Amino acid sequence: MDARPAADATPLDRAQFPVLERRIGRGGDRPLVYLDSAATSLVPLRVTEAVTRFLHTSCANIHRGAHMLAEEATDAYECAREHLAAHLGVDDPARVVFTHGATESLNLAALGWAEHALGPGDVVAVAEDNHHANIVCWQMLAERRGVEIAWIPVDADGQLDYGEWCRIAERGPKLAALAQQSNVVGWEQPDLARILDDARLAGAFTALDGAQAAVHGPVDLAALPVDFYALSAHKMMGLTGIGALACSPRAFERMRPVFGGGGMVAQVDACGYVPACGPQGFEAGTPAIAAAVAWNEALRMLEEAGMERVRRHVAALALRAQRGLSELPGVRVLGGPTPASASLVSFTVDDVHPHDASAALDAEGVLVRAGHHCAKPLHAALGARASVRASFAGYSNDEDVDALLSAVARLVERRA
Ligand code: PLP
Repeated sequence: MDARPAADATPLDRAQFPVLERRIGRGGDRPLVYLDSAATSLVPLRVTEAVTRFLHTSCANIHRGAHMLAEEATDAYECAREHLAAHLGVDDPARVVFTHGATESLNLAALGWAEHALGPGDVVAVAEDNHHANIVCWQMLAERRGVEIAWIPVDADGQLDYGEWCRIAERGPKLAALAQQSNVVGWEQPDLARILDDARLAGAFTALDGAQAAVHGPVDLAALPVDFYALSAHKMMGLTGIGALACSPRAFERMRPVFGGGGMVAQVDACGYVPACGPQGFEAGTPAIAAAVAWNEALRMLEEAGMERVRRHVAALALRAQRGLSELPGVRVLGGPTPASASLVSFTVDDVHPHDASAALDAEGVLVRAGHHCAKPLHAALGARASVRASFAGYSNDEDVDALLSAVARLVERRA
C-alpha cells in the first residue's frame, strides 16, 4: 500500500482552509478528507478576508460612478484583471475578458468569434478528452452555422491519436478545441504542444481549456500558440461566479460583443450603439466584482507558494494514489500509463457502481466525485460509463492519499 515517493509539506498552508479542520462521522471522530478539488477548490481564509475587507471599505459598482468608492472598486476590479493577465503571460490586460466561468468563456469564443468567422463546410477539430464545456459550444455552433466537427479521438489509454489529428490538419481546420489538462485522466496530453503548433501552421485558431491546468502549474500564454484560453476562479482557490477568456491579439481583434447592455457601450442613441473598446465590450451588466477581488488574492497565494512547487506536489500525490489504487484487485485506473504530471486519478471498482463507491468513501469521510465528470465522450472511449475521481490541490497531503487508499481497500475487501 505504501507506494511512495511522498510529496513534501503542502505548498498551501492547510491552516488557511478551515473546512479541513472539520471532524465528521457520528462521534465527530473522522477528519474530513477533501478529494474533490477538481470540481471546486477550497477557499482560503486570506481570500475570504480580502473579500470582506473590500466589501466593508470599497463596495460600489464599477466603471459607472465617479465617486471615491466607485473609483476604488473599479481599481480593485481592474487590478485583478492586470494580475490575472500577468499570471497567464498576457502582455495586455485588455485581452483578458472576465466571464462567469470557463464554460461561459468557451461559449464566448464560439459566439463572439466563430459565429461570424466560420460557416458551412469549415472544419472544427474537437479533442475527445475535452470536458463538455469545450465540446457542446462547438456542436451548437455546428447546428447554427453548418460547420463540421472533426473529432480527434483518444486511444484506450486516453491519449490523443496524433495520426488522426494530422489527417484533420491536412483538411485545413479553422479551429482546434483542446484541453490543457483532462478532468478525467488528470494529465496533459503528451502531444498537446505539437498539436497546438501544427494547428497554427495549418492556419487554425486554437481554443485551450485551462480550467484544470491553471491551478496546478505555471501558464505562459506568451509561449503558447493559443487564441482562446478559458479558466475558472473557483478551481484555483477563488470564488464561484467568475472566470476569464484570455485572447491572442488576432483573436481579440476579431471578437464581436455578444451580450448587450450597460457597461459594454461607448455610445447609444435611437439609431444604434457603439460598443466599448477593450474587454468592457464583452462584459455587459454588473460583473462579479467581489469575486474578482477574491481571485486576485488567490493568485497571490498561489504565486507565493510557487506554481512549480504546487505542480510537483500535486503530481507526487496523484502518482502515489494511482500506484496504490492499481495494486488493489478489481480496481481499474482510467487513462494509463499515467504521464509523470497529473493532478487527479479516476478509477472504477469491479461490480461497484461509482455512486455506491463514492457513498462508501463518503461514509469514511473521504469526499470524492462520482459520475461522468461532464466528459461522456472520453468515458465512452475509455470503456467506462462513469468513474470515481479523487483530485488533489496544493493543500492536499499524504494522509489524504492514505485515507483514500485505505477506504478503497476496505471497499474492495467487502465486495470480495
Ligand atoms: N473544463 C474543465 C476541464 C473542467 O474540469 C470544468 C469543470 O469541471 C470546466 C471546463 C467547466 O468549468 P465551469 O463549470 O467553472 O465553467
